[in-house]
Amino acid sequence: MYYKQYGNTGLKVSAIGMGTMRYDDEDINAGRLDKCADVVLYAHEKGINFFDSAPFYCQDQSETITGMALSQLPRDSYYISSKVNLGTLDNKEGPDDFRRRLEKSLKRLKVDYLDFYYLWCMLDLESFKKQYDLLYKYFEEAKKDGLIKYINVSSHMQGTELEKVVDTSLFDGMLIGYNALNYRFRQAGIEAAYNKGMGIAVMNPLGGGLIPQNPETFSYLTEGTDLTVAQAALRFVASHKEISVTLAGCTKKEHIDDALKAVKNLEEKPAKEIYDDYEQKGVSLNNLCTGCAYCDSCPQGIDIPKFMDSYNIKILGQDMAGRLKGHWGLSSSKAGECIQCGLCEGLCTQHIPIMDRLAEISLLS
Ligand code: SF4
Ligand code: SF4
Repeated sequence: MYYKQYGNTGLKVSAIGMGTMRYDDEDINAGRLDKCADVVLYAHEKGINFFDSAPFYCQDQSETITGMALSQLPRDSYYISSKVNLGTLDNKEGPDDFRRRLEKSLKRLKVDYLDFYYLWCMLDLESFKKQYDLLYKYFEEAKKDGLIKYINVSSHMQGTELEKVVDTSLFDGMLIGYNALNYRFRQAGIEAAYNKGMGIAVMNPLGGGLIPQNPETFSYLTEGTDLTVAQAALRFVASHKEISVTLAGCTKKEHIDDALKAVKNLEEKPAKEIYDDYEQKGVSLNNLCTGCAYCDSCPQGIDIPKFMDSYNIKILGQDMAGRLKGHWGLSSSKAGECIQCGLCEGLCTQHIPIMDRLAEISLLS
């Protein structure tokens, strides 16, 4: 395993971390949580020491499964995170609500403290400021009481907005979505965080699965390697000097082996050099929907992720109408029912102009 420094904390973390949002649904439904926990133990055996968890992942079982595994391991042999925001507190922002949420995560993860506790999923500066004002003091109290070691932030903001979050100097680490699709969009943020001495963990290194689903489009990532497109996409992220840990969502032990192959003999480079290398090659699309479904609460009942997935196909130079009707069974006329309330765009993690795209789709015959 290749290890990296986690910002100025002095911690050495595995270049690949395990995201615990992809445990096997069938096993969860059948109550075979121990089988899911085996994947964590396997990851640890292979040198992974960074585990990223949160409430609600995997039918709200992720923390419990992860705790089943971690409780079998020495506490100083891994780092574990969890997350909180106003949403997880049902918009109750009192100190007791915060503490109850944190204690629930600790209990499920079977630990006395979390290494990293995140102010979770900041979509824009306005929401960040509101949640910071309400919650940050409780993070500090929990840290003083020894329940958390480091206060972190996770965000889907653009690079220049991320720079403003970094400038607050309030956080030890950051979790962001970063990949071969959106790197131009977020690079300023990771450079700023690195220069500030923050640890950086990356989620969504495969662009919501878009990269491996389009192997021909992204074959340029594999040039000069014997890696698959998915492995090469992980390596693309992990090779950034600024990035401490790249999270791989692993359902099976084979996914761990795949991810480890991606960082074998890893060579680190500054983000700027990687930018120069890749701007000359293939695609660098910042405007693809990742299918995260954060926007999926349209009052008109429009299934936005499916419409945006179809629009992706157009961006990738393929048949959008075929995708919409043939793959999803959707009619373009449904897109015309958008009342342009703007709700979805405010929630979109990729800042996609959803309303414009729906208007364009609605014109398909
Ligand atoms: S802008 Fe249109 S698609 Fe988005 S939530 Fe409003 S009605 Fe739905
Ligand atoms: S439109 Fe935005 S929020 Fe909705 S699924 Fe796509 S990337 Fe996610």
